[in-house]
Amino acid sequence: MFDALAEKVQSAIEKIGRKGRIDEETLEKGLREIKLALLEADVNYRVVSNFIKDIKEKALGAKVIKGVNPAQQLVKIVHDELVQTLGGEAEKLNLKGKPSVILLIGLQGSGKTTTAAKLANYLKKQGKRVLLTSVDVYRPAAMLQLKKLGDQIGIPVFLEEKEKDAVKIAKDALLKAKDESYDVLVVDTAGRLHIDEELLEEARKIKEEVVPDETLFVIDSMTGQESVNIAKAFDERVGMTGIVLTKMDSDARGGVALSVKGVTGKPIKFAGVGEKIDDFEPFYPDRVASRILGMGDIVSLVEKAQEVIDEKEALSMQEKLLSGEFTLEDFRQQLRMIQRLGPLQQIIRMIPGLSSQKMLKQLEKAIDDKKLKRIEAIINSMTPEERRNHAIINASRKRRIAKGSGTSVKEVDALIKQFVQAKMAMKQMKKMQRKMAKKGGRF
Ligand code: GDP
Repeated sequence: MFDALAEKVQSAIEKIGRKGRIDEETLEKGLREIKLALLEADVNYRVVSNFIKDIKEKALGAKVIKGVNPAQQLVKIVHDELVQTLGGEAEKLNLKGKPSVILLIGLQGSGKTTTAAKLANYLKKQGKRVLLTSVDVYRPAAMLQLKKLGDQIGIPVFLEEKEKDAVKIAKDALLKAKDESYDVLVVDTAGRLHIDEELLEEARKIKEEVVPDETLFVIDSMTGQESVNIAKAFDERVGMTGIVLTKMDSDARGGVALSVKGVTGKPIKFAGVGEKIDDFEPFYPDRVASRILGMGDIVSLVEKAQEVIDEKEALSMQEKLLSGEFTLEDFRQQLRMIQRLGPLQQIIRMIPGLSSQKMLKQLEKAIDDKKLKRIEAIINSMTPEERRNHAIINASRKRRIAKGSGTSVKEVDALIKQFVQAKMAMKQMKKMQRKMAKKGGRF
């Protein structure tokens, strides 16, 4: 998401920044480009106008700070404005009730049912006891879908499949959640392909019945301004406290993300970033703004690493690396650790410093998950002895390994060569560290 927009905004800023000083004319020209980029990304017109107006005021009013070049200063101004447009400070869930109730509303296909399961799982990971329910009395398949997801993540799903009254199911689910002391009840409601009176009325009645702590509107980032207007209609008629933006992993242009807060006044609280249950995260406007401007998102990267990589495991790996005892066995373990972070393509986007889109594209081409899988397959095909001591891998062993892993001898060779080089590089590093230590310096 945001690829095309990021490319154009970054190029506009670069052009403005090439001049030593930002005069009004240069700024006007650059802002016109940014405006076009935002409109092409399908951002709401009013939101775009305010965005440009604010930047212009701030940029022209800004004092030139010594030591900061005008382009950097402009990046900061655009960054701050993007953060504001995306919602400002990240907003957390506001759960007070016992049980707390979260009502999910939105159109069919927006990703509501998936979001219900993702959200329930997210809360479960925080130690909460969660009950799920679906009150979609029109599509039995929707109830079954939630049940299936609930089973997958070990979260109970309350259903009344024969009941035709959605409000009644919601009421019964709440009673159960109270009786059995659940911390949170997540209610998935029916969606339609288009907004209709009956649907709005039903959602309103359910809301009246369960008095939710949070009513979250689920919106698909692939859809355009029409669905942002629908969000507004839902807010006016049903009321909502926040938004869940789904499919942020898709190649959507970004218009929904950048418009929905401005149009509805409600914050985006979560983002769906893939089809899997764990592909779900709190929405941080500042991190998203940084990504749009090619500033990377090191905070998310570190958080992700903390979540999936065990600190002890990482430390023991580091010790091995530096002690020179690093074997292909360890190398495989390291590969697995990296893969746990998610698709490499997504990871490199979070690395700051890869500011130009061109560089990013080149890297994306060079790095691919399939290569990692092939390397792992090669190491898997080795015997434990070979993994511990690569020196014994002779030509006939190489042929066997290539055959076993469905790769070629050339690939096996390349891997061993790379491994040896990496080991040597580490030795060098260790030596340098020692030298520095002797000199009393720090590495
Ligand atoms: P509902 O009709 O609103 O309940 O929508 P569903 O939960 O059934 O989702 C519709 C489709 O969108 C399904 O194929 C989901 O797997 C997919 N989906 C939901 N959230 C995401 C997301 O964040 N990323 C991607 N790529 N797909 C998603």
